[in-house]
Amino acid sequence: MSVKFDISFAKSAKIDGGLVIQLKLSGDGPAAGVAEADPAGVGARAAEIAKFSAKAMTMLDIIAPQGSAADRLVVLGLGKADALTAQDWLKAGGVAAASVKSMSKVVIFLDVPGVEVGAARAAGFALGMLMRAYSFDAYKTKKNDDDDKAPKTVKVTIVTADPAAAKNAFGESEAIAAGVNLARELVNLPPNALGPLEFADRAKELENLGVEVEILTEKEMKKLGMGALLGVAQGSVRPPRLAVMHWKGGKAKDVPVAFVGKGVVFDTGGISIKPGAGMEDMKGDMGGAAAVTGLMHTLAARKARVNAVGIIGLVENMPDGNAQRPGDIVTTMSGQTIEIINTDAEGRLVLADALWYCKDRFKPRFMINLATLTGAIVVALGNQHAGLFSNDDTLAGQLTSVGEVTGEKLWRMPLGKEYDKMIDSKFADMKNTGGRNAGSITAAQLLKRFVGETAWAHLDIAGTAMNSPANEINQSWGSGYGVRLLDELVRAHYEVG
Ligand code: MN
Ligand code: ZN
Repeated sequence: MSVKFDISFAKSAKIDGGLVIQLKLSGDGPAAGVAEADPAGVGARAAEIAKFSAKAMTMLDIIAPQGSAADRLVVLGLGKADALTAQDWLKAGGVAAASVKSMSKVVIFLDVPGVEVGAARAAGFALGMLMRAYSFDAYKTKKNDDDDKAPKTVKVTIVTADPAAAKNAFGESEAIAAGVNLARELVNLPPNALGPLEFADRAKELENLGVEVEILTEKEMKKLGMGALLGVAQGSVRPPRLAVMHWKGGKAKDVPVAFVGKGVVFDTGGISIKPGAGMEDMKGDMGGAAAVTGLMHTLAARKARVNAVGIIGLVENMPDGNAQRPGDIVTTMSGQTIEIINTDAEGRLVLADALWYCKDRFKPRFMINLATLTGAIVVALGNQHAGLFSNDDTLAGQLTSVGEVTGEKLWRMPLGKEYDKMIDSKFADMKNTGGRNAGSITAAQLLKRFVGETAWAHLDIAGTAMNSPANEINQSWGSGYGVRLLDELVRAHYEVG
């Protein structure tokens, strides 16, 4: 059952029942706020008896004895002060959120002796709470017993030295959480509920935040010559769409930055059909488009001072009498031709036209595309890093470093002429697969043929957008990977003063 945290900040709080959470560094004395919540020192005594050493992200959960102002006390361990990163504050928020359980009222004493918590960390902690609160349960009609007891809205008061500054910073957290949770939701939704049209409608909703949204129909894409994207879509009874989202938060003359997402709402593989086992996971083959949509939501909601374009190619890849065949040759919007070797290598076909269109129309400062593109990247990097391919060392460096900051990590993979040769075709300008070896690299080489001289990065998120291990801030199958990463990229390097 999803809970909603109604978070506010205060300099102090009167405890009147409910849960009190106190943060504690390892090797430190009693937790902060202990005197207000726990005048008898129950927390300190329990910590001693339980030999609670306050290792990072551990907790001590105590039912408060009679006479206490609180009903429950949680002491949340942070580990050692000098090892605490920005990421850890999000994680601590996630752990705190999970500890709330059936309580409807929570007071959190955030300030720890010896650590200047500050507004940014307080906002990070609150972001961790909001991210942890997300769960996808719209289709669970049978609730379990706990759900009836659990409140839908939990009132959270975070006690910190400068509540006004924290509240201000928290506005950004809310924008980020909304974008991440939107991306997760889109990935989690079943493919019968989220086809290209429904996805386009979700993109259109960003107009409420001031984003300009255009939806290109099949007819318009035909006119533009998007033969590669349309070739993928032709086997589905559900028509394709291309959504163009434009956030104009910068100055009119500022060249936009651009994000392009693969939105294959379901990928059967087409005529080169996939094996049945695990095919249901292919509802997540629109994780790139979900991340771009979530990112645009975040940028608009926090009124980022940047001009940003988000383009998502929305198609379904189905086997059908009208589906494209291996051996077909399609002509892309760029004029280049592609021989289809395997209809399951469809994401790059969608992106070939979406990237070219983006470059052609917007002449952006850079293009970053996100795609659940290859199984090969999962073999290489697992769920821990997304693959990064780029023709621009500066952009690649920026991405790698914001990956470290956000914990949405990237690992740079090579590109090169030798790999590029692997997709030369006997019959057309190129073929859509280069075989098993270097599968994620040859996919990237194909994309590179559609970006011209534009600074470009391709993030292969097949291993990180979905089905990655649950952690402190994410319990959902769809992870929302990429939203925080790219929001941080914009914030750190591309917003105007
Ligand atoms: Mn495929
Ligand atoms: Zn695919």
